[in-house]
Amino acid sequence: MVNLGKSAKSPDYHPRPPANNRHPIAKFPQLVPTNLPLDMVIYSCHCEGTVVADARLYADAVLADVHAALSARRPHIAMRLFEQILASGQAPDSIPLTQWITSSIGREGLSGLALAYATGSCSYCTRGRRECSPCDGTGRGENGIVCRACLGMRREPCETCRGTGLSGYGKCPDDLRSLVLSYRLCIAASGAARLVPEDGASPPELTVEACLHRIANLNKLAGVLDSAAVELAGQQARGLISPARLERVKQRIGKTYDTLDAAIRVTLKRAVELSSLAVGDQSPDVLFYSWLARSSRFEGTALHRNSAARLASRSTI
Ligand SMILES: [Zn+2]
Ligand SMILES: [Zn+2]
Repeated sequence: MVNLGKSAKSPDYHPRPPANNRHPIAKFPQLVPTNLPLDMVIYSCHCEGTVVADARLYADAVLADVHAALSARRPHIAMRLFEQILASGQAPDSIPLTQWITSSIGREGLSGLALAYATGSCSYCTRGRRECSPCDGTGRGENGIVCRACLGMRREPCETCRGTGLSGYGKCPDDLRSLVLSYRLCIAASGAARLVPEDGASPPELTVEACLHRIANLNKLAGVLDSAAVELAGQQARGLISPARLERVKQRIGKTYDTLDAAIRVTLKRAVELSSLAVGDQSPDVLFYSWLARSSRFEGTALHRNSAARLASRSTI
């Protein structure tokens, strides 16, 4: 593809002023052998800027690799390749990014790429939780009373990802963010369907510890909704979402949050029952879980999810 012409070692090689860095090869530094200076390659190239592959062809070729990585279940590699295209500025700017991706690797490729971003991990925590700092991971605060921050779970939600364990929306290209948001709402809804007890049924847990485990998992999904609500507000502020879609997504978030909120409360009540049997109904733990189950927004605890709660039907704001 590239005629390097005279090499640096050639006796008739004479240095020249730096070559024009607008030459096409300057956009593809990865094609240049590492032992050759880019300026010299540009100067030596006899193509006069016409032979090097068209930028769009190059971007399409890398996009095909993105598709291959997705097919091989290597989402991290797919995202890295895609980010390489964006960083090199080779994605066409004449059509929307999603349209280009669809025309090149199909709707399946677009969905796969958005799903890769939707399920990408937060790099600041392990699965959304970190050791609780207020209680140093003991689950207990002053006087041995259950820690309010982690509810005695010893670990608290990661502040960066709101306990979701997922990467921030900021990592995702603007054009894919609304699709990523939809996928994350699917993740929250399907997780809720698995974790929420059947209507009227009491959670099957037999220990307070097990109740707290279920609550932590429900709260992780509530975090997904909370970060989606914040992202939605950002999209609204930037005029990136139509009023009709905005309303639909708000309702979706609110409805799933209602379900999670109810499941958390019923599980807290189960913890109260179990704790009462073990340590008596006037123990500080029982009083705390009992208060929490009746509190309006779980204020001051790891369960407080104000952005999502505002969209819930039971919201009074
Ligand atoms: Zn704690
Ligand atoms: Zn995190």
